[in-house]
Amino acid sequence: MKSAAFAYERPGDVNGALALIAPTDRSIKIIAGGQSLGPMLNLRLVEPDVMIDISNLAELKQAACVGGDLVIGACVTHGDIEDGRVPDVTRGAMQRVAAAIAYRAVRNRGTIGGSLSHADPAADWVSALSALGARVSLRSLSGVRQLGIEQFITGALRSALRPGEIIETVRIPAMTPSARFGYFKACRKTGEFAHAIGAVLIDPEQATARAVIGALEAAPIVLADASSLFGGRVTADFGRRFDVRVADAILAKSGISNAGDRHIHVTALRRAVSEAAA
Ligand SMILES: Cc1cc2nc3c(=O)[nH]c(=O)nc-3n(C[C@H](O)[C@H](O)[C@H](O)COP(=O)(O)OP(=O)(O)OC[C@H]3O[C@@H](n4cnc5c(N)ncnc54)[C@H](O)[C@@H]3O)c2cc1C
Repeated sequence: MKSAAFAYERPGDVNGALALIAPTDRSIKIIAGGQSLGPMLNLRLVEPDVMIDISNLAELKQAACVGGDLVIGACVTHGDIEDGRVPDVTRGAMQRVAAAIAYRAVRNRGTIGGSLSHADPAADWVSALSALGARVSLRSLSGVRQLGIEQFITGALRSALRPGEIIETVRIPAMTPSARFGYFKACRKTGEFAHAIGAVLIDPEQATARAVIGALEAAPIVLADASSLFGGRVTADFGRRFDVRVADAILAKSGISNAGDRHIHVTALRRAVSEAAA
């Protein structure tokens, strides 16, 4: 099957794009890398009147360190990050996550902003950037607002994007020198979408821990204070102190009744913790 016919616009800058996506009675869709939208168009799950192509907007392809954080344009591709074409404030963590997304052809075109906007719970950036404490900057003709990833992703394939709004940038805080990142993606074959994701950012010197349980059939579970997973305090021996029963109870409380499913998610989280501790 091929997509239904649509009009196609390629604005020259972000303001031009915002003017084109301002709400009207026509159905409008943004396309960035097209890696998620393309199949949906071909299956006719989406039939826009007008397609606005933002993939060539130079403003959305920039990346720079600002006040120690990395501010990365929405149209930076997974491949740009994998290849180190953008600065790194995560000591290689983002590079490793990017390299395990799909396969190279998808990474060449797929963008960080497209992945977050699509809000697939199994998408790698959704969980990894939640663990890293990233924020998105959303722009419309009426201004800019900023949200943490955990506020932005509101459910499976659901985000806080409003009509007329785009993700403009993603801001990733620099990892502290003593922070450790761990990420584990459970999938049958390398490069596939995950069945379970565990992601942690743990700083034993500052006694802080963030943990994310992702690839659920909903928004990821984000524990901004994950100390309960380590017996109530985050210390240098956090890897040994990880309590699978607490993780299991969190998943059960979130409504995952199948013990086998919980086991896969707990194992992914345990492996992320082990990677951070190694
Ligand atoms: C075979 C295959 C395997 C894959 N495997 C994985 C995987 O293992 N892990 C993973 O994380 N992903 C995977 N993906 C998805 C891939 O990472 C996509 O790049 C990503 O989901 C969407 O990015 P895109 O730039 O292609 O967005 P598009 O497909 O162009 O757009 C996706 C959605 O986001 C909207 N959008 C795009 N950019 C913006 C913006 N800046 N502001 C507002 N809305 C916007 C579009 O309107 C659309 O609704 C896979 C894809 C394929 C085809």
